[in-house]
Amino acid sequence: ASTWANVPQGPPKQDAILGITEAFKADSFKEKINLGVGAYRDDQGKPYVLPSVRTAEDKVVSAHLNKEYAGITGVPEFTKAAAVLAYGAGSSALDRLVITQSISGTGALRIGGAFLERFYPGAKKIYIPNPSWANHGAVFKDAGLAVEKYRYYNKDTIGLDFEGMVADIKAAPKNSIFLLHACAHNPTGIDPTVEQWKEISDVVKAGEHYAFFDMAYQGFASGDTDKDAFPVRMFVEQGHNPCLAQSFAKNMGLYGERAGAFSIVCADAEEKKRVDSQVKILVRPLYSNPPVHGARIAAEILNDKALNKQWLGEVKGMADRIITMRALLKKELEGLGSKHDWSHITNQIGMFAYTGLTPAQMDKLATEHSVYATKDGRISVAGITSGNVKRLAAAIHAVKP
Ligand code: PMP
Repeated sequence: ASTWANVPQGPPKQDAILGITEAFKADSFKEKINLGVGAYRDDQGKPYVLPSVRTAEDKVVSAHLNKEYAGITGVPEFTKAAAVLAYGAGSSALDRLVITQSISGTGALRIGGAFLERFYPGAKKIYIPNPSWANHGAVFKDAGLAVEKYRYYNKDTIGLDFEGMVADIKAAPKNSIFLLHACAHNPTGIDPTVEQWKEISDVVKAGEHYAFFDMAYQGFASGDTDKDAFPVRMFVEQGHNPCLAQSFAKNMGLYGERAGAFSIVCADAEEKKRVDSQVKILVRPLYSNPPVHGARIAAEILNDKALNKQWLGEVKGMADRIITMRALLKKELEGLGSKHDWSHITNQIGMFAYTGLTPAQMDKLATEHSVYATKDGRISVAGITSGNVKRLAAAIHAVKP
């Protein structure tokens, strides 16, 4: 028999998003709409390369740098600047921070999961929100952690189940690990308020829990990188020593370049030294060292004053377009006479809107209206344009009259 005769076939739609992309491609209708993919599109529905990224890339290319390996933890000009972007200049965390470049946000989560699996002194189990980014469970499971869910989404209000979330944090055994989306929660687009974050910090502290932040959308949510980093910075100010996965896929549009970082806030310089040595020991057999190109682009943008300012404007431009499309979609639905309350669409933030549509309604959207998105009712607002929003609203109104 062949060596792989016993490899079982994986489920067909292993990745729900890829399944949608395929169905979308197979649809011959000209005005079909793809709201599945979590990547920004401009108002023409086209992928968008930020002008600041083009400029930074031109600078990198014309510098004719060599192609030598980076160190295990990556391009230092990138990781240093990434830390400042996340924690804030002058943060007490910076001097006691271990940071390594990673294969974007996914790689950061995976390194974090592996580090916790190897060294976390408490239970090797991570609590993630219900629901969460579809890949979280698999990343942490494959890193060797048990995965459990805490309450997050309230389907009756299409809002945050704050009481449930706090109750679950309180009920978890002391020293539990909690994964928190720093901003623009994926898939719901529902974030805690500033006041709620403070309470979350308090209950995490009271339980002596460990906070693992996933910040895949810094700047992309509100348009302001400082505002979006509030939970991470507030936790540090409140005396937590969290760890953090950062991605530059969304806020710089560097998706395929895989630029990210994983960091751990340590107690002091001595602890930092030990943790740093172990992060390197962990990364080395995984991929030796990370790719340099995307990190060099991001470093240019983060370290060059003028380019940085330009980039912040472009991030805001993306966030603002999304916020505008939310308002427009709601307005169109109301204009069609929809009797449902669509305010959640404008209350939510970031790339996605959680519409509250049922799987059956999502199916109808696809088969009868050529509008493609995941069955959980999540639509990528980045895929909405001033050209397709009317048709989208009509389709939603038709499946949920
Ligand atoms: N975390 C969350 C919540 C995400 O939505 C994503 C991207 N969809 C990621 C992490 C990782 O993305 P990437 O590996 O492309 O940076």
